[in-house]
Amino acid sequence: MRRDGTTFSRQFLREFAKVLAACMVCAVSPSAQTSAQTSAQTLAQTLAQIQFRLQTREVIAGHLKSFPTRNGAREALIWKWFAEAGCKSANLSEQALDRKLPPNVICVLPGETREVIVVGAHTDHVDTYGDGVVDNWTGAVLLPALLYSLSAQPRHHTLIFIGFSGEEKNLAGSQYYVDHLTSEQRARIDGMVNFDSLGLGSTEVWASHADKALLDALAFVAAASKLPLTLMEPGNGATADSEPFARRQIRRITLHSVTPQTWSILHSPFDKMAAVKMNDYYDSYKLTAEYLAYLDDALKTQPAADPDKITR
Ligand SMILES: [Zn+2]
Repeated sequence: MRRDGTTFSRQFLREFAKVLAACMVCAVSPSAQTSAQTSAQTLAQTLAQIQFRLQTREVIAGHLKSFPTRNGAREALIWKWFAEAGCKSANLSEQALDRKLPPNVICVLPGETREVIVVGAHTDHVDTYGDGVVDNWTGAVLLPALLYSLSAQPRHHTLIFIGFSGEEKNLAGSQYYVDHLTSEQRARIDGMVNFDSLGLGSTEVWASHADKALLDALAFVAAASKLPLTLMEPGNGATADSEPFARRQIRRITLHSVTPQTWSILHSPFDKMAAVKMNDYYDSYKLTAEYLAYLDDALKTQPAADPDKITR
């Protein structure tokens, strides 16, 4: 089922109205009530502007089930789906690494400004065990789906969707990408949103490795849309493609679905299609589409705060 942005804007406002009603009951002093009303109006205006569309559950499930075995074939399929989702050939590219690995695949969705949000997931998997469906075909499949979700109307930010190669080889693709940005390019990135190993359960966020503003925005969208979200550490020794960005002082956040109980599924014979809970995975897709549409607005540079940035 495909739902248009108008439907979701109204849904947001309905949910927000309930929150507002509860808030008004709680606010006992006139000043608190006025303050609540003002912030409610501001948020309602913001939420009213959020528009996105969704791929059907059938399309998402079909893509997930058609995972190739080889990493190179995975990268090529994400490229193909980027093109099918509307990425123009001039905006679709591969970035060769300096190692014998498949390239990073990159689709740029130009926005009204040169401010950037990077949306990333690794396309490779450990080829010795399992099928690497959870880790990380679940993340890779979201990239073209989210391009489709966000490309129907103009965006403030330029969105750069990246399927990273070599995550399982010491974050090779994401490290290479970050290392080859100029300082000016890095400065234009307002946030990096990463997906790794979704679908084992409901959406979780690696809170200890997330920028606070990105985390707060995610919690807000999850509450407003009534989609589940849990703060969860993925496991001892975990790392992800978000971390090379963090080391360059770029705000980042990683969404996943791993708990201490399911951590052992990754890089094991049990990382197969059967491990994915499709209802949870589709909820994760809906949440991430809403989240990115919201972030595009929420991360707009305030002119007074950074007059240099808006001239770019
Ligand atoms: Zn992974």
